[in-house]
Amino acid sequence: MEKTNTHSRRNFLKLSAQAGMVAGLSSVALKGFGHTAVFDEAPSVEKIPYTQQPLPYAYNALEPVIDAMTMEIHYSKHATTYAKNLADAVVAEKVDAQSTPLEKLLANVSRYSPKMRNNAGGHYNHELFWQSMAGPNSSAQPQGKLKAAIEKDFGSVEAFKSQFSDAGKNRFGSGWAWLVSTPGGKLVVSSTPNQDNPLMDVAEVKGIPLLGLDVWEHAYYLKYQNRRPDYIAAWWNVVNWNVIQRRFEGA
Ligand code: MN
Repeated sequence: MEKTNTHSRRNFLKLSAQAGMVAGLSSVALKGFGHTAVFDEAPSVEKIPYTQQPLPYAYNALEPVIDAMTMEIHYSKHATTYAKNLADAVVAEKVDAQSTPLEKLLANVSRYSPKMRNNAGGHYNHELFWQSMAGPNSSAQPQGKLKAAIEKDFGSVEAFKSQFSDAGKNRFGSGWAWLVSTPGGKLVVSSTPNQDNPLMDVAEVKGIPLLGLDVWEHAYYLKYQNRRPDYIAAWWNVVNWNVIQRRFEGA
């Protein structure tokens, strides 16, 4: 379970390269918060820094599935605000971000304010979400060990997608659908309200989030209006399974 920061950094850099992230992100990540401690309580996944990272592609890269204006508002307004409010909460609640990886904070989030819960979750979830997507030519289907695990735990990739899509469609109001690696190693689908996620001690289903889908209206309303199921159906075309595979292998 324990992992040194060196290992974590290497994984993060590999993930960054896989995601085709912009040059310069590596140095940003290494200068960021939370990469100095041995990660001894929270799950061993690629770490997400406390600060918003550059979007790994252009605002229009996911068209026609997600339009450029939605991406721009989502990234530069909504997600930026979560990151800013998280930074404020970290100061106000005296979190030592250098020695507390974000994942560890999330694992203890019930000890903090609702502002921390909403914005730590909001920031983490969006960083994960951006990384999980890429242009139409990224890998379109799960492969290798991840595919085998999905087939073992859901029966087939299509059955998994159906269950995951239903979790997104059936989330009343705002929230997320998740593919989660549980502590026992089994893959499950879950859904959380608001900006909660499976890393949180308050989550109904706990584990490592491998893939998350934002079903807040701000994620799709400009193009899809009330048609959330259409957004979800189209979204599968921009999932970057290479990144999910990396996350699975690190979980
Ligand atoms: Mn969002």
